Amino acid sequence: MRSLQGLATARGFAVGPVFICRGDGSVPVPEYVLEPGREEEEVLRYRRAVGDARRDLEGIVASLKERTGRDDVMVFECHLMMLEDTELSGAVERRIREERVNAESAVKRVYAESRAKFERMNDPYFRERVRDLDDLERRLLAALTGFSAPAHRGLKVPSIIVADDLTPSETVQLPRDLVLGFATNGGSTTSHVALLARAMGIPAVTGLGDITSRVRAGETVLIDGTNGTVTLHPDAASIREFMDLVERDREISESAVLGAPAGTLKDGGEVPIFANLHPGVPVGGLREHGARGIGLYRSEYLWLNRGHEPTEEDQFRAYRDAARFTAQLGDDASITIRALDIGGDKIVRGISHKEANPFLGNRSIRYLLANRDMFKTQLRAILRASAFGRVRLMYPMISCVEELDESAEVLAEVKRELDAAGVAYDREMPVGAMIEVPSAAINADAIAKRVDFFSIGTNDLVQYVMAADRGNESVASLYQPTNPAVLWLMRHVIDAARHRGIKVGVCGESASDPVVGVLWAAMGVDILSMSASYIPVISAVLSRLTRADLDAYVRIPVEMGNDVTAHEVYDRCRAWLAEHVFDFENIVL
Ligand code: PEP
Ligand code: MG
Repeated sequence: MRSLQGLATARGFAVGPVFICRGDGSVPVPEYVLEPGREEEEVLRYRRAVGDARRDLEGIVASLKERTGRDDVMVFECHLMMLEDTELSGAVERRIREERVNAESAVKRVYAESRAKFERMNDPYFRERVRDLDDLERRLLAALTGFSAPAHRGLKVPSIIVADDLTPSETVQLPRDLVLGFATNGGSTTSHVALLARAMGIPAVTGLGDITSRVRAGETVLIDGTNGTVTLHPDAASIREFMDLVERDREISESAVLGAPAGTLKDGGEVPIFANLHPGVPVGGLREHGARGIGLYRSEYLWLNRGHEPTEEDQFRAYRDAARFTAQLGDDASITIRALDIGGDKIVRGISHKEANPFLGNRSIRYLLANRDMFKTQLRAILRASAFGRVRLMYPMISCVEELDESAEVLAEVKRELDAAGVAYDREMPVGAMIEVPSAAINADAIAKRVDFFSIGTNDLVQYVMAADRGNESVASLYQPTNPAVLWLMRHVIDAARHRGIKVGVCGESASDPVVGVLWAAMGVDILSMSASYIPVISAVLSRLTRADLDAYVRIPVEMGNDVTAHEVYDRCRAWLAEHVFDFENIVL
């Protein structure tokens, strides 16, 4: 049994077989020396992989014969012949036996030599064979390691997806019913894949470094997304212990839903808790976890799910349905639809363009203002949906006041056009700004004069304040929501909102960490919005605290001053909660 520690990215527990998924990056292939006496076993593993590759190729040939012409088929028939080539296979088996290396290493070495031979030949026919060798090598390595292409080809049974890293579009394409959990080499707790896993209620552990080379396809692993661990080769006792955790987790979720509305304090006060939603992810979890509305609707997933731009009708239908669903969450429930937040790691082919530094590039509101037609189409769809529920519009990545002024002009123009066409919409639809760029946070007072509400996006705000990529596990320790600089800025933004009399919420995932989420509540935010599966936990913690408790809690970092580390602040706050919140350790597991 072996336990790997990664980042606790999406809470929950899962047990199941490994499916290794090849992302966009290169495929890490394990290469090692065999223990003495394991050579024949390894030769058999290689032969099984040849058998798998052969079946794969025969399947492709059969289906191509039905659908297309001879040329396509010939390529794969040629691969089949190469696969049967005793010289190649003989060389691989010899390497395994004589050099005592694993099958993957032997394949890589033999194929590299053959490729070099073909590359030296002048005849274009033979040089073309290099490509065939590449293809065949990839197929064999896929059969040996379980890596397959495209990302989830071959996923047939519910599995734990193990990957180097996954892009948001690869993640949304995974069949939900076959994904029990995620364990990835890279990634972090606020990468977009992480947020998707949270939104889908799928446990995830990221930042594991090299899990892809430590597990084999099909072996059973345990994933604990709440604490960030993956257990390989679990024994019976650890499976039992694991099942206890699953049971306790279920009890917390159920008790929170049966109690008062999410975010109700012990003295009856409240900090309502809303859910963040990705279009395309089932909405069932929102009601189940007690969400009081949708605090962030990430509209860009309508683009990411399709891989191209949705039409106005596509958008309108999605927003209208989400607005109607929101109405079922309660009388005061609203949905905050965020305008297209494309860019960074949210890439849509044909729309996104290559940039040296996409996180600081032409993204989000910048992109929309530069592409007015697309912006207007989206605004029209959102306004039309506002006739069907309490819809709020929010602009992403605001960094200066002129972006808000320009956006207001575009919105006014769209409203005029709808009026002229006699289309119904909510004339009072509130318009807000995400506060996630340091310049907007610092200049919050001027921003607040121009909008009806703020939503603080701590996922990006922390990344930009700390200059630490939110998706890069190697700088995860610098990603510090409780850094004194971040806390100073949070207080500053909340004060500006208060001063201008507008509501302020937090929709970054930091709100889902009880230690931090309670701190934002204590600082005076009006709502918290997070992945639905975290709502019961934060709600349970808040339900055991009064406003006076929150006032005491918020003084902790103030009294610690600025000459402290983020960890010291976090630990002190956590210790306070452990002392003042009944059953705290059990709630947060
Ligand atoms: C944020 O930045 O905190 C946020 C909620 O937006 P996203 O995670 O989609 O960038
Ligand atoms: Mg953001």
